Amino acid sequence: MSAEKRKKKTGAARPPASLEPLRREVNGLNLELLDLLNRRADAVQRIGEIKKEQGLVTYDPLRESQMMELLLKKNRGPFPDSVITALFKEIFKASARQIDELARVVAKTSRSYRKRDTVVRVDDLAIGGGNPPVIMAGPCAVESFEQLDKVARRLKKLGVRVLRGGAFKPRTSPYSFQGLKERGLEILQLVAAKHGLLTVTEVLDPRDVGLVADHADILQVGTRNMFNYELLKELGRCSKPLLIKRGFMATLEEFLQAAEYVLHRGNERIILCERGIRTFERWTRNTLDISAVPILKTESHLPVLVDVSHSTGRKDIVGPISRAALAAGADGLMVEVHHRPQVALSDSGQQLDLPQFGKLVSELELFLREKGPAAGKGA
Ligand code: PEP
Ligand code: MN
Repeated sequence: MSAEKRKKKTGAARPPASLEPLRREVNGLNLELLDLLNRRADAVQRIGEIKKEQGLVTYDPLRESQMMELLLKKNRGPFPDSVITALFKEIFKASARQIDELARVVAKTSRSYRKRDTVVRVDDLAIGGGNPPVIMAGPCAVESFEQLDKVARRLKKLGVRVLRGGAFKPRTSPYSFQGLKERGLEILQLVAAKHGLLTVTEVLDPRDVGLVADHADILQVGTRNMFNYELLKELGRCSKPLLIKRGFMATLEEFLQAAEYVLHRGNERIILCERGIRTFERWTRNTLDISAVPILKTESHLPVLVDVSHSTGRKDIVGPISRAALAAGADGLMVEVHHRPQVALSDSGQQLDLPQFGKLVSELELFLREKGPAAGKGA
């Protein structure tokens, strides 16, 4: 019977059942659900923290299906299983996101970890962060006191601050000159002290880190060793600045991960060095990845150098390549220089002689003056 008919018959409408108490009940249940959801999120957070501590995988699909099975077994309705499944799937998804967020590690090499450029200080020399570009120059290998002395004297006159020279040489052939080793380190230290220069030299073996650190100002990780995680870990414990070269087959992400190994262990004084990667091209020794410079400077806060000698393997293009590197924002260059490149014991084809290097320095000074401070941050 319609309300209208009932009204006519009885003369009064029955009051409609009140919605209010039911609405109040739903509101209360909402709040209880909210509280339960957040208590659940709290427990999930604690699980996430334990898993992170123990290095366990965060997402566990088996556990999720067991929880769902139990829920469906206990479901008495009125919601059908399909609705319960959909609702709890959303809750599980939210928890998975929550744990992922917790497990996400912000890389210490990344810009999001540190907004400002890292400036690596070696004595009174500041590398990176908009300081004038630094040139690290010298022979591929330390061959003798006389050789290094001749080169260092000229470099000093040209305003170079960092003398390079390998004492431990990673050579492709085991029959090639392997470097003077400890004697080479001693010569490097003596010559640098004589001319008031800082030094950079490669360390190949984790067992030699202490020895090389005793003789040099900056320790270099060569392209072949960028993936040598034991060496990187050892260098992470060392207090000397490092120059890490990009592996010749490494992506930029892998390159930064290598630096992360060192930073993560506590050594924050890292300079990255793009030195070319292996491609199909044969007219250069490697292919200089110039895009690496602005990308590394965007993705990371570390200073970036370009090795113009190993990346090209050719002295005839070192000038334009050096300008390109500085224009791209490099914080400095590495150049191989020998007083008599034709008789050098390694990399003789790519080392500049002293007049060629003098010419390069003058060209770069002119280039930097014309470029002004605005072009290429870091120059
Ligand atoms: C070097 O600089 O001496 C050297 C061997 O370079 P790379 O590791 O880039 O080949
Ligand atoms: Mn070399």
